[in-house]
Amino acid sequence: MSGCSSDGECPNCHKDMYCYTDYKPFDNVTGECLNCGFNYFTDTYFDDFGNLNERRKDFGLKPITKKQYNKIKRNSAFGKCK
Ligand SMILES: [Zn+2]
Repeated sequence: MSGCSSDGECPNCHKDMYCYTDYKPFDNVTGECLNCGFNYFTDTYFDDFGNLNERRKDFGLKPITKKQYNKIKRNSAFGKCK
């Protein structure tokens, strides 16, 4: 395992909470407070065709075609397509 668990302080109830961070295969953090139930986690997803091209436009990149979009491999372990 490349991850690391640690104790943190819950921002809500200020009790100890369980935290976990990993940097592989991408930066990923989670935390869980067993006192008040506060949770946080890294959300992952793949942009759908329209959103991806909107984002590309924001960064000054050319839009990709639907055919190109469909050819891109997306590992479902990393996130679902929105
Ligand atoms: Zn808490």
